Amino acid sequence: MKKDICAYTYEQLQEEVQVLGEPKFRARQIYEWLHVKLVDDFSEMRNLPKNFRMRLQEQYQILPVIMLERQESHLDGTNKFLFRLYDDNMVESVLMRYHHGNSVCISSQAGCRMGCKFCASGIDGLERNLSASEMLGQVYQIQKIMGERVSNVVVMGTGEPLDNYQNLLIFLKILSGEHGLHISQRSITVSTCGIIPKMYELAQEHLQITLALSLHGSTQEKRRRLMPVADAYGLEELLKACDNYFQETGRRITFEYSLIHGVNDTQEDVQELVSILKPRNCHLNLIPVNPVKERNFIRPDSKNAQNFKNKLEKNGINVTIRREMGADIDGACGQLRRRYIQT
Ligand code: SAH
Repeated sequence: MKKDICAYTYEQLQEEVQVLGEPKFRARQIYEWLHVKLVDDFSEMRNLPKNFRMRLQEQYQILPVIMLERQESHLDGTNKFLFRLYDDNMVESVLMRYHHGNSVCISSQAGCRMGCKFCASGIDGLERNLSASEMLGQVYQIQKIMGERVSNVVVMGTGEPLDNYQNLLIFLKILSGEHGLHISQRSITVSTCGIIPKMYELAQEHLQITLALSLHGSTQEKRRRLMPVADAYGLEELLKACDNYFQETGRRITFEYSLIHGVNDTQEDVQELVSILKPRNCHLNLIPVNPVKERNFIRPDSKNAQNFKNKLEKNGINVTIRREMGADIDGACGQLRRRYIQT
C-alpha cells in the first residue's frame, strides 16, 4: 500500500521530503495543500513541479473520505454525514451549529469493541481503527461541503478513541498544529469509556484538550451492568485517573451520564453521584438516553430529567442537560451507519 501522506506531522513531512531529495520548503507547500486548502488530489498542488507531483502520486496516497449521504435537521440546522472509506467501511460524523461556532463530532473507529449496553455503535463489534488522516478527513470534508469554518471538534462519534491511541494523538497534533487548521486544543474534546492506562499516557502529553469520561453508572456495580469495560477498569481507579488528568493538565474533566429511566435516575443515584463529583473540580453532562431499536432502554421524560438535575444542583454539582440536536434526523449515533450496513 502507498504511504498515507495526511498522517505525517509537519516535522515528519519535512524529513520525508528531504529523503526524497527535495528542499525542506516543499513540506510546507504540501502540508498547506493537505491541511489548509484541503485538496483531495496531488494534481491540485499547483505550485509543485509536475515531475515531483508524479513522484508523490506514485509513492503516497490521500485516503478517501467520501460523502454518501447528508441529512439536515429542519429544527436546528444540525447535519449528519455518512462517509465511505477506501475499503468500503462507513463512518458517521455530525455538524452542530452553536452560537459560539460550528462543532463537528467525528468517529475514531469503524465499529467499536466496548459493547456498552445502550449504544448502537458497538452492536456489530469493531471493524477497524481509523487512521489519523481518516479522522481529519471527516472534519476537512465537512468544512469543504458546508463552506463554513469548523471551530470545535469532539471525538464522540463511533468508536473508543483511546482504543486507537497512536492515531488519535497524531490526529490531535495535526488538527491543532499551527501549520494546519490550527483548531485550539481547548476547543477539542475526546470522550472515553475509561481505558485507564491510556488516560495516564494522555495526561503526560500535557495537551489542553478536554477529556470527557463516560460515567453512566453511579457505583462500580451499576456501571458494570451497563459498560463491560468496567470489569477491566474499576470505578475507584478510574476516578484516580481522572484526578491525575486534571493535575497534569489543569483541565477539568467532563463526566457524561446517559439518563436511563428506572436504571440510573433514582434518588440513590443522585446521592452516589454527589459523593463522586462533589470533591472534584468537574462538570456533569446529562444525556437523556437516545432509544436504540435493538435495545429496550427508556429515556426519562423531560420533567424527570430536570428533577434529577435540580437535585444535583442543590448539592452543589456543576451540571447541565445536553441540548438535543437534530432530533428529526435518524436517532442515536451509529444508527445511520447501521441502516447502511444492513441494506
Ligand atoms: N467511546 C467513547 C465515545 C463514544 S460516544 C465513550 O465511550 O465515551 C459519546 C457518548 O455518547 C458516550 O458518553 C456514550 O456513552 C454516549 N452514548 C452512546 N450511546 C448512547 C445513547 N443511545 N444514548 C445516549 N448516550 C449514548
